[in-house]
Amino acid sequence: MNALEAFRKQYGAEPSGLWAAPGRVNLIGEHTDYNDGFVLPFALPQRTVAAVGPAPAGEWTVCSTFQDEAISFGHTEPGEVTGWAAYVAGVVWALVEAGHNVPGARIAIDSDVPLGSGLSSSAALESSVLTALVDLGGLDLPVEQRPRLAQRAENEYVGAPTGILDQSASIRCREGHALFLDCRSYEVEQIPFDLAAQGLAILVINSNAPHQHVDGEYGARRKSCEEAARILGVPALRDITGAQLDDALARLDDEVMRRRVRHIVTEDDRVLATVGLLRAGQVREIGPLLTASHASMRDDFEITVTQVDLAVDTALAAGAYGARMTGGGFGGCVLALIDADRADVVTAAVEEAYAQSGFTPPTAWTVTAGPGAGKL
Ligand code: ADP
Ligand code: MG
Repeated sequence: MNALEAFRKQYGAEPSGLWAAPGRVNLIGEHTDYNDGFVLPFALPQRTVAAVGPAPAGEWTVCSTFQDEAISFGHTEPGEVTGWAAYVAGVVWALVEAGHNVPGARIAIDSDVPLGSGLSSSAALESSVLTALVDLGGLDLPVEQRPRLAQRAENEYVGAPTGILDQSASIRCREGHALFLDCRSYEVEQIPFDLAAQGLAILVINSNAPHQHVDGEYGARRKSCEEAARILGVPALRDITGAQLDDALARLDDEVMRRRVRHIVTEDDRVLATVGLLRAGQVREIGPLLTASHASMRDDFEITVTQVDLAVDTALAAGAYGARMTGGGFGGCVLALIDADRADVVTAAVEEAYAQSGFTPPTAWTVTAGPGAGKL
């Protein structure tokens, strides 16, 4: 059942329209967002669709093809709506908090973004609903201010302490481009990312490894970075350049903290180097940067798991130009830059390696850079 059918079934009416917002992969720049640094995501063709129609003022109902029951709520505070509908109630709350007159709405959700795989189905959900409510209510909310609002919904209403990456990607990405985002200024640059023209593809490999300790480990990484910035006397680790790294490391006593800092500082540099290559049309050449990013996440930031490392190593051995985990870590997905006609070969190699290790089989598919949130 798609969103339109779900809307008709649930509400016995036609929606006013359909709005979509994509999941994302982050090409490079992991855990840099909450360090005020740089990220480079692009939108997936996979997306969340919200069919939305009017309801009386102050009343919202939402159903999802992933859930049995529709949830209704009025004006709420964080904590009042819990579970999956909190992402939707959180968007309404964040809009109201920002002073907007949010229209009542009936909403039906469908998605082909895998849930909980690090492809940001949560931001796709928030962004589709946010875009719909803004359009439906004719709200004055410029596109560059929307990610921050969706992030507030996730941080303060849902209670997940994520950075600005996911919502920015879902809302601001453009088809055929990667989004170079400065997470301090929120300035963006659309970087041409046309893989097909060069006979290349990005293969996304979902490790299907169960996510473990994600929230606690994420929080610990954040804390370590913030503590390091405090010791180093800078507002955020973004303010340490690659040239200053050795000096900075010498001033930190804690070995673990040193490695966390090294990841963030070198990762910011890798994002800038990747952007430079893409601006020059040198797509294949970004491969080594992707692979170096993975090594840094594995060894310094320690956010990968065995299945993810195996997918990266196997993809590289099967001829990928570069490969890395994408997303917050502890499971989730890998992306590999490959010749477009090698997708089957690389996929088969990873499947074979997983079978030999007795892991749950991976799921792999090639992606292109799709459009950001909008009305269909
Ligand atoms: P990710 O964003 O990596 O997919 P999260 O844990 O951040 O993982 O978000 C997944 C959660 O978002 C789901 O458990 C569910 O609560 C909610 N969610 C996302 N998409 C949908 C959907 N289409 N229908 C219902 N809930 C959804
Ligand atoms: Mg998420």
